[in-house]
Amino acid sequence: MPIHLMQVIKLPQWLVQDIDRLRRKFLWRGEKNCLGGHCLVNWSKCCLPKQNGGLGIHNLEIQNEALLVKWVWLILSQPNSNWANTVRALYGTTDIHELSQHPLLSSQLSDILRTVRLFGSSFCTKPDGTVYWSWAADGIYSVSKAVKRLAHTGVIAPFYKIWRIRVPSKVKTFLGLLMLDRLLTQSNLLTRSWPTQTSCVLCQSQHVEDSDHLFRTCQFSTDIWTTVELQFNLSILRQMSSPTEMWLETKKLQTGESKNKWDVVWGATCWTLWKHRCRVIFDGDSPTLHRVLLDIELNVRNWSIIVYIFHLITQKRKQHKPSSTTFIPRPRLPFIGHGFPRSATAFDRWATAFDRSATTFIP
Ligand SMILES: [Zn+2]
Repeated sequence: MPIHLMQVIKLPQWLVQDIDRLRRKFLWRGEKNCLGGHCLVNWSKCCLPKQNGGLGIHNLEIQNEALLVKWVWLILSQPNSNWANTVRALYGTTDIHELSQHPLLSSQLSDILRTVRLFGSSFCTKPDGTVYWSWAADGIYSVSKAVKRLAHTGVIAPFYKIWRIRVPSKVKTFLGLLMLDRLLTQSNLLTRSWPTQTSCVLCQSQHVEDSDHLFRTCQFSTDIWTTVELQFNLSILRQMSSPTEMWLETKKLQTGESKNKWDVVWGATCWTLWKHRCRVIFDGDSPTLHRVLLDIELNVRNWSIIVYIFHLITQKRKQHKPSSTTFIPRPRLPFIGHGFPRSATAFDRWATAFDRSATTFIP
């Protein structure tokens, strides 16, 4: 994204639309061609924060606005900085109100000042004359906090914690689409008038496959959940109205670390069921209960081991925190090829390595 450009000029509407078009193609197709039917979620919803039920993709206009306002913050908070001195030398003042009415004001600065008005009275002055930003507890302006605040709709989606489950990113995205009921199940394909089968491939019944049938009421899935319940020692509330409610209500019954266990087990079961359903449709496999259960167990073990390794490495780093004068190189893990895994990307790399080696590390 043109972050540097966005820091100094207000992007024109046509440019924002062009960049969004490219981002949309990359997200849904990874190719140049992407039609409306390929987009599973409306773009404006994609750009909502995850807390508000969106996919958390940055809204360019809001990000542009937040980046520009940083220049105003620098004038207000550091009146003796080089930037403030430059503005003073050019226009004879650093007062925001006077500046906004200056006849010789450059178009870029004019855009910035027009933007700052959208923030209302978020910049306040203390009795001692110092300026603080009222939207942050520490009073210091931050672009990321401004973006979060401006994009927030005020309506919290009940399922937003799905993005915190300790599973690979691709599984989180899949679960996010399941929550929004945007998976390409037969029911959703029919809604889009796409050709599809009219019966469930897992239980061979005439029931049209929607996400509730596939992940909850299908006989095949019911057998899977029954076994999963016994295998992982969980009490699953299955008499709910949707897979989302099943996840949320069962989670309420769990305490402590069991909450995390249920999250991972639920994510792994839904993901494995979906993968198996796709193999049956596209590769001609036959539905096999045993295979699905083995894959669920493998996924849960692998993802839990990665989380455990993360935990151990964090503990180790805390114990051996080097002093500022000593340089200790990070140990490198040969089969990953990178240093300590600390981010979601690192988690994904580990999960991919586990998938490739098909190793459980547990006898
Ligand atoms: Zn079925």
